[in-house]
Amino acid sequence: AKSAGGNRFELADPEADARAITRHGLTTALPAALERGEFFIEYQPLVHLGDGSVRGAEALVRWLHPQHGVIGPDRFIPLAEHTGLIVPLGRWVLEESVRQARTWEARHKDAGPLRVNVNLSPMQLTHPGLVSDTVEILERAGLEPGALCLEVTESALIGADDDLLKPLRRLAEMGVDIALDDFGTGYSNLANLRRLPVSILKLDRSFTQGMQHFPADPVDLKIVEGIVALAHSLDLAVTVEGVETGAQADQLRELGCDTAQGWYYARPGPPDQLHELALADATS
Ligand code: C2E
Ligand code: CA
Ligand code: CA
Ligand code: CA
Repeated sequence: AKSAGGNRFELADPEADARAITRHGLTTALPAALERGEFFIEYQPLVHLGDGSVRGAEALVRWLHPQHGVIGPDRFIPLAEHTGLIVPLGRWVLEESVRQARTWEARHKDAGPLRVNVNLSPMQLTHPGLVSDTVEILERAGLEPGALCLEVTESALIGADDDLLKPLRRLAEMGVDIALDDFGTGYSNLANLRRLPVSILKLDRSFTQGMQHFPADPVDLKIVEGIVALAHSLDLAVTVEGVETGAQADQLRELGCDTAQGWYYARPGPPDQLHELALADATS
Protein backbone atom coordinates (compact mmCIF):
# COMPACT_ATOMS: atom_id res chain seq x y z
CA ALA A 1 0.00 0.00 0.00
CA LYS A 2 1.13 3.51 -0.67
CA SER A 3 1.95 5.88 2.10
CA ALA A 4 -0.86 8.09 3.33
CA GLY A 5 1.58 10.84 4.24
CA GLY A 6 0.53 14.18 2.79
CA ASN A 7 -2.19 12.51 0.80
CA ARG A 8 -5.61 13.95 1.54
CA PHE A 9 -7.49 11.27 -0.38
CA GLU A 10 -9.01 8.27 1.30
CA LEU A 11 -7.18 5.07 0.58
CA ALA A 12 -9.16 2.60 -1.46
CA ASP A 13 -8.27 -0.32 0.77
CA PRO A 14 -7.60 0.69 4.37
CA GLU A 15 -7.28 -2.98 5.36
CA ALA A 16 -4.41 -3.48 2.94
CA ASP A 17 -2.81 -0.34 4.23
CA ALA A 18 -3.19 -1.48 7.81
CA ARG A 19 -1.45 -4.71 6.91
CA ALA A 20 1.47 -2.70 5.61
CA ILE A 21 2.16 -1.06 8.95
CA THR A 22 4.90 -2.94 10.63
CA ARG A 23 4.51 -4.66 13.94
CA HIS A 24 7.09 -2.27 15.24
CA GLY A 25 5.15 0.76 14.00
CA LEU A 26 1.95 -0.44 15.65
CA THR A 27 3.68 -1.39 18.87
CA THR A 28 5.31 1.98 19.37
CA ALA A 29 2.07 3.80 18.54
CA LEU A 30 0.00 1.91 21.11
CA PRO A 31 0.67 3.95 24.29
CA ALA A 32 -0.12 7.28 22.62
CA ALA A 33 -3.21 5.74 21.05
CA LEU A 34 -4.50 4.85 24.50
CA GLU A 35 -3.77 8.33 25.77
CA ARG A 36 -5.48 9.94 22.79
CA GLY A 37 -8.57 7.77 23.08
CA GLU A 38 -8.22 6.00 19.74
CA PHE A 39 -9.70 2.74 21.02
CA PHE A 40 -13.39 2.00 20.96
CA ILE A 41 -15.56 -0.94 21.83
CA GLU A 42 -18.14 -2.81 19.80
CA TYR A 43 -20.68 -5.04 21.51
CA GLN A 44 -21.90 -8.32 20.07
CA PRO A 45 -25.22 -9.59 21.45
CA LEU A 46 -25.50 -12.84 23.40
CA VAL A 47 -28.80 -14.53 22.71
CA HIS A 48 -30.63 -17.15 24.75
CA LEU A 49 -31.13 -20.14 22.44
CA GLY A 50 -34.31 -21.25 24.18
CA ASP A 51 -36.40 -18.13 23.71
CA GLY A 52 -34.27 -15.94 21.45
CA SER A 53 -34.05 -13.11 23.98
CA VAL A 54 -30.99 -10.87 24.18
CA ARG A 55 -29.16 -11.44 27.45
CA GLY A 56 -26.14 -9.21 27.07
CA ALA A 57 -23.12 -8.67 24.88
CA GLU A 58 -19.42 -9.33 24.53
CA ALA A 59 -17.19 -6.25 24.47
CA LEU A 60 -14.71 -6.34 21.57
CA VAL A 61 -12.08 -3.63 21.35
CA ARG A 62 -11.01 -1.89 18.11
CA TRP A 63 -8.41 0.73 17.29
CA LEU A 64 -9.43 3.66 15.14
CA HIS A 65 -6.02 4.57 13.78
CA PRO A 66 -5.90 8.15 12.44
CA GLN A 67 -4.16 7.10 9.23
CA HIS A 68 -4.97 3.47 8.78
CA GLY A 69 -8.59 3.23 9.83
CA VAL A 70 -10.06 0.52 12.02
CA ILE A 71 -7.62 -2.14 13.15
CA GLY A 72 -8.95 -5.38 14.68
CA PRO A 73 -7.87 -6.80 18.04
CA ASP A 74 -6.19 -9.85 16.56
CA ARG A 75 -3.59 -7.45 15.20
CA PHE A 76 -2.82 -5.33 18.24
CA ILE A 77 -3.80 -7.32 21.36
CA PRO A 78 -0.80 -9.65 20.97
CA LEU A 79 1.46 -6.59 20.69
CA ALA A 80 -0.10 -4.95 23.73
CA GLU A 81 0.28 -8.23 25.58
CA HIS A 82 3.95 -8.34 24.59
CA THR A 83 4.74 -4.83 25.85
CA GLY A 84 2.52 -4.88 28.94
CA LEU A 85 0.23 -2.16 27.62
CA ILE A 86 -2.55 -4.71 27.83
CA VAL A 87 -2.84 -3.97 31.54
CA PRO A 88 -3.93 -0.31 31.21
CA LEU A 89 -5.73 -1.03 27.92
CA GLY A 90 -7.60 -3.97 29.46
CA ARG A 91 -8.51 -1.84 32.47
CA TRP A 92 -9.90 0.82 30.15
CA VAL A 93 -11.98 -1.79 28.27
CA LEU A 94 -13.33 -3.10 31.57
CA GLU A 95 -14.20 0.35 32.86
CA GLU A 96 -15.87 1.42 29.63
CA SER A 97 -17.83 -1.85 29.29
CA VAL A 98 -19.01 -1.79 32.89
CA ARG A 99 -20.18 1.78 32.51
CA GLN A 100 -21.99 0.77 29.33
CA ALA A 101 -23.69 -2.16 31.05
CA ARG A 102 -24.90 0.22 33.74
CA THR A 103 -26.39 2.44 31.05
CA TRP A 104 -28.23 -0.50 29.45
CA GLU A 105 -29.55 -1.45 32.86
CA ALA A 106 -30.85 2.04 33.49
CA ARG A 107 -32.61 2.07 30.13
CA HIS A 108 -34.16 -1.37 30.59
CA LYS A 109 -35.60 -1.35 34.04
CA ASP A 110 -38.39 -3.76 33.10
CA ALA A 111 -36.44 -6.12 30.88
CA GLY A 112 -34.20 -8.82 32.30
CA PRO A 113 -30.68 -7.77 33.20
CA LEU A 114 -28.31 -7.17 30.32
CA ARG A 115 -24.88 -8.49 31.08
CA VAL A 116 -21.52 -7.61 29.66
CA ASN A 117 -18.69 -10.01 28.85
CA VAL A 118 -15.14 -8.69 28.88
CA ASN A 119 -12.04 -10.52 27.63
CA LEU A 120 -9.06 -10.85 29.97
CA SER A 121 -5.54 -11.43 28.69
CA PRO A 122 -3.17 -13.81 30.45
CA MET A 123 -1.07 -10.87 31.64
CA GLN A 124 -4.07 -9.22 33.27
CA LEU A 125 -4.66 -12.46 35.17
CA THR A 126 -1.25 -12.28 36.79
CA HIS A 127 -1.46 -8.54 37.47
CA PRO A 128 -1.83 -7.94 41.23
CA GLY A 129 -4.41 -5.17 40.74
CA LEU A 130 -6.99 -7.31 38.95
CA VAL A 131 -9.37 -7.89 41.86
CA SER A 132 -9.13 -4.42 43.41
CA ASP A 133 -9.44 -2.69 40.01
CA THR A 134 -12.50 -4.75 39.16
CA VAL A 135 -14.15 -4.08 42.51
CA GLU A 136 -13.46 -0.38 42.19
CA ILE A 137 -14.76 -0.20 38.63
CA LEU A 138 -17.98 -2.02 39.54
CA GLU A 139 -18.56 0.17 42.58
CA ARG A 140 -17.88 3.39 40.75
CA ALA A 141 -20.33 2.49 38.02
CA GLY A 142 -22.89 1.09 40.45
CA LEU A 143 -23.12 -2.23 38.61
CA GLU A 144 -23.71 -5.44 40.54
CA PRO A 145 -20.99 -8.07 40.04
CA GLY A 146 -23.53 -10.54 38.64
CA ALA A 147 -23.89 -8.38 35.52
CA LEU A 148 -20.23 -8.88 34.63
CA CYS A 149 -18.65 -11.91 33.01
CA LEU A 150 -14.90 -12.14 32.50
CA GLU A 151 -13.75 -14.35 29.62
CA VAL A 152 -10.47 -16.16 30.05
CA THR A 153 -9.09 -18.43 27.35
CA GLU A 154 -8.71 -22.09 28.00
CA SER A 155 -5.04 -21.87 27.04
CA ALA A 156 -4.36 -19.18 29.67
CA LEU A 157 -5.53 -21.57 32.37
CA ILE A 158 -3.81 -24.74 31.21
CA GLY A 159 -1.67 -25.96 34.05
CA ALA A 160 -2.77 -22.96 36.14
CA ASP A 161 -1.60 -23.18 39.72
CA ASP A 162 -3.39 -21.85 42.77
CA ASP A 163 -1.71 -18.46 42.63
CA LEU A 164 -3.15 -17.83 39.19
CA LEU A 165 -6.59 -19.09 40.16
CA LYS A 166 -6.86 -17.20 43.43
CA PRO A 167 -7.91 -13.82 41.96
CA LEU A 168 -10.43 -15.53 39.69
CA ARG A 169 -11.83 -17.38 42.69
CA ARG A 170 -12.18 -14.12 44.60
CA LEU A 171 -14.05 -12.56 41.69
CA ALA A 172 -16.28 -15.62 41.31
CA GLU A 173 -17.09 -15.50 45.04
CA MET A 174 -18.14 -11.88 44.62
CA GLY A 175 -20.62 -12.99 41.96
CA VAL A 176 -18.67 -12.18 38.79
CA ASP A 177 -19.09 -14.94 36.22
CA ILE A 178 -15.97 -16.44 34.72
CA ALA A 179 -16.22 -17.95 31.24
CA LEU A 180 -13.71 -20.31 29.72
CA ASP A 181 -13.23 -18.86 26.23
CA ASP A 182 -12.25 -20.72 23.05
CA PHE A 183 -13.07 -23.97 24.78
CA GLY A 184 -12.04 -27.06 22.87
CA THR A 185 -9.00 -25.51 21.19
CA GLY A 186 -6.61 -26.24 24.04
CA TYR A 187 -5.78 -29.57 25.45
CA SER A 188 -7.05 -29.14 28.95
CA ASN A 189 -7.94 -32.15 30.93
CA LEU A 190 -11.70 -32.19 31.15
CA ALA A 191 -11.51 -33.40 34.73
CA ASN A 192 -9.50 -30.25 35.43
CA LEU A 193 -12.63 -28.19 34.84
CA ARG A 194 -13.88 -28.94 38.32
CA ARG A 195 -10.90 -27.14 39.76
CA LEU A 196 -11.50 -23.92 37.82
CA PRO A 197 -13.78 -21.19 39.17
CA VAL A 198 -15.71 -20.99 35.90
CA SER A 199 -19.45 -21.03 35.40
CA ILE A 200 -19.63 -20.78 31.60
CA LEU A 201 -17.97 -22.67 28.77
CA LYS A 202 -17.64 -20.79 25.50
CA LEU A 203 -17.40 -23.36 22.79
CA ASP A 204 -14.93 -22.27 20.17
CA ARG A 205 -16.08 -21.12 16.75
CA SER A 206 -14.39 -24.10 15.11
CA PHE A 207 -17.16 -26.36 16.45
CA THR A 208 -19.85 -24.17 14.99
CA GLN A 209 -18.00 -23.98 11.70
CA GLY A 210 -17.97 -27.77 11.56
CA MET A 211 -21.76 -27.56 11.37
CA GLN A 212 -21.84 -25.29 8.37
CA HIS A 213 -22.56 -28.18 6.05
CA PHE A 214 -25.78 -30.05 6.22
CA PRO A 215 -26.00 -32.72 7.36
CA ALA A 216 -23.23 -31.97 9.85
CA ASP A 217 -20.55 -34.55 10.52
CA PRO A 218 -22.11 -36.97 13.04
CA VAL A 219 -18.82 -37.21 14.92
CA ASP A 220 -18.75 -33.39 15.40
CA LEU A 221 -22.28 -33.55 16.72
CA LYS A 222 -21.36 -36.30 19.16
CA ILE A 223 -18.43 -34.26 20.45
CA VAL A 224 -20.55 -31.17 21.05
CA GLU A 225 -23.25 -33.30 22.64
CA GLY A 226 -20.65 -34.80 24.97
CA ILE A 227 -19.20 -31.43 25.94
CA VAL A 228 -22.65 -30.04 26.67
CA ALA A 229 -23.54 -33.05 28.82
CA LEU A 230 -20.30 -32.76 30.75
CA ALA A 231 -20.68 -29.00 31.19
CA HIS A 232 -24.23 -29.32 32.46
CA SER A 233 -23.27 -32.11 34.85
CA LEU A 234 -20.73 -29.68 36.32
CA ASP A 235 -23.36 -26.90 36.46
CA LEU A 236 -21.73 -24.90 33.72
CA ALA A 237 -23.72 -23.05 31.08
CA VAL A 238 -22.64 -23.43 27.45
CA THR A 239 -22.31 -20.49 25.09
CA VAL A 240 -21.52 -21.05 21.42
CA GLU A 241 -19.83 -18.48 19.25
CA GLY A 242 -19.64 -18.01 15.50
CA VAL A 243 -23.29 -18.88 14.78
CA GLU A 244 -23.81 -17.71 11.21
CA THR A 245 -26.98 -19.49 10.08
CA GLY A 246 -30.40 -20.38 11.42
CA ALA A 247 -29.68 -24.06 10.72
CA GLN A 248 -26.64 -23.91 13.02
CA ALA A 249 -28.70 -22.20 15.70
CA ASP A 250 -31.38 -24.93 15.48
CA GLN A 251 -28.81 -27.67 15.68
CA LEU A 252 -27.00 -26.11 18.64
CA ARG A 253 -30.28 -25.58 20.47
CA GLU A 254 -31.13 -29.24 19.91
CA LEU A 255 -27.74 -30.22 21.27
CA GLY A 256 -28.62 -28.37 24.47
CA CYS A 257 -26.43 -25.28 24.20
CA ASP A 258 -27.72 -22.39 26.30
CA THR A 259 -26.57 -19.14 24.72
CA ALA A 260 -25.36 -18.15 21.26
CA GLN A 261 -23.38 -15.39 19.64
CA GLY A 262 -22.69 -14.80 15.97
CA TRP A 263 -23.44 -12.96 12.79
CA TYR A 264 -26.78 -14.77 12.43
CA TYR A 265 -28.01 -12.67 15.35
CA ALA A 266 -25.87 -9.57 15.00
CA ARG A 267 -22.39 -8.41 14.15
CA PRO A 268 -20.44 -6.55 16.81
CA GLY A 269 -21.82 -3.00 16.80
CA PRO A 270 -22.24 0.24 18.73
CA PRO A 271 -23.82 0.08 22.21
CA ASP A 272 -27.16 1.33 20.91
CA GLN A 273 -27.55 -1.83 18.83
CA LEU A 274 -27.95 -3.83 22.03
CA HIS A 275 -30.41 -1.31 23.38
CA GLU A 276 -32.53 -1.59 20.24
CA LEU A 277 -32.46 -5.39 20.16
CA ALA A 278 -33.40 -5.59 23.82
CA LEU A 279 -36.17 -3.09 23.25
CA ALA A 280 -37.49 -5.16 20.34
CA ASP A 281 -37.51 -8.18 22.69
CA ALA A 282 -39.47 -6.35 25.33
CA THR A 283 -42.19 -5.24 22.93
CA SER A 284 -42.58 -8.49 20.97
P1 C2E B 1 -12.92 -13.92 20.82
O1 C2E B 1 -12.93 -13.54 22.26
O2 C2E B 1 -13.00 -15.36 20.50
O3 C2E B 1 -14.11 -13.10 20.15
C1 C2E B 1 -14.94 -13.59 19.14
C2 C2E B 1 -14.50 -13.15 17.76
O4 C2E B 1 -15.32 -13.77 16.79
C3 C2E B 1 -14.62 -11.65 17.52
O5 C2E B 1 -13.56 -11.25 16.66
C4 C2E B 1 -15.95 -11.58 16.78
O6 C2E B 1 -16.10 -10.39 15.99
C5 C2E B 1 -15.87 -12.81 15.92
N1 C2E B 1 -17.19 -13.28 15.49
C6 C2E B 1 -18.37 -13.09 16.13
N2 C2E B 1 -19.38 -13.71 15.49
C7 C2E B 1 -18.84 -14.32 14.41
C8 C2E B 1 -19.39 -15.13 13.35
O7 C2E B 1 -20.58 -15.43 13.29
N3 C2E B 1 -18.51 -15.58 12.41
C9 C2E B 1 -17.20 -15.28 12.46
N4 C2E B 1 -16.42 -15.76 11.48
N5 C2E B 1 -16.65 -14.51 13.44
C10 C2E B 1 -17.46 -14.05 14.41
P2 C2E B 1 -12.75 -9.90 16.93
O8 C2E B 1 -13.67 -8.82 17.39
O9 C2E B 1 -11.89 -9.64 15.73
O10 C2E B 1 -11.84 -10.28 18.16
C11 C2E B 1 -10.81 -11.21 18.00
C12 C2E B 1 -10.19 -11.59 19.31
O11 C2E B 1 -9.51 -10.47 19.91
C13 C2E B 1 -11.19 -12.01 20.37
O12 C2E B 1 -11.59 -13.35 20.12
C14 C2E B 1 -10.39 -11.84 21.64
O13 C2E B 1 -9.56 -12.94 21.85
C15 C2E B 1 -9.54 -10.63 21.30
N6 C2E B 1 -10.11 -9.43 21.94
C16 C2E B 1 -11.08 -8.60 21.52
N7 C2E B 1 -11.31 -7.60 22.39
C17 C2E B 1 -10.44 -7.81 23.43
C18 C2E B 1 -10.18 -7.14 24.68
O14 C2E B 1 -10.81 -6.13 25.05
N8 C2E B 1 -9.21 -7.67 25.48
C19 C2E B 1 -8.52 -8.80 25.13
N9 C2E B 1 -7.56 -9.25 25.96
N10 C2E B 1 -8.74 -9.45 23.98
C20 C2E B 1 -9.70 -8.97 23.14
CA1 CA C 1 -14.09 -13.81 24.02
CA1 CA D 1 -13.90 -17.02 21.83
CA1 CA E 1 -11.27 -16.82 19.39
